[in-house]
Amino acid sequence: MISGRCAACKYLRRRCPSDCIFSPYFPPNDHQRFACVHRIYGASNVGKMLQQIPSHDLRAKAADTLYFEAKYRIQDPVYGCVGMITQLHQQIHSAESELAKIRAQIAFLNSNDHAQESQVQNIETKLHPDSNILILPEQINAAGLWSTYVPTSASSTQTSWF
Ligand SMILES: [Zn+2]
Repeated sequence: MISGRCAACKYLRRRCPSDCIFSPYFPPNDHQRFACVHRIYGASNVGKMLQQIPSHDLRAKAADTLYFEAKYRIQDPVYGCVGMITQLHQQIHSAESELAKIRAQIAFLNSNDHAQESQVQNIETKLHPDSNILILPEQINAAGLWSTYVPTSASSTQTSWF
């Protein structure tokens, strides 16, 4: 049964036994998977590690992890998968700081909206009761100046009459 050999047995050019430890985790259609693991850990070590794990589900997870770690160790011989993890941590950190900035902007804009709403309410309360004319603070000041100006001119005209 040469065609039924798993990727590991094919790679190692050996007969694949029915109880092959690699067979469930290294299917024959994915040569790269076993090649990576063999290059970093060695086939014998991978076989021993998988045999130490009793559960099939855990063995599958271990094989996936070994492949992931080996793949990134080949891509980045210095940092391996730690390089990828660090990169993802940095992405999370920058996304979190961006989110914090946007939340602060939203809070700032909301507080500005509330301040403007209360200003509009204050101005509305200063409306003249008989008319719909809005009395602004500048107009009140101008009226005040006018009222102080009139008596002095009246008194000056009065003095000229006598
Ligand atoms: Zn095999």
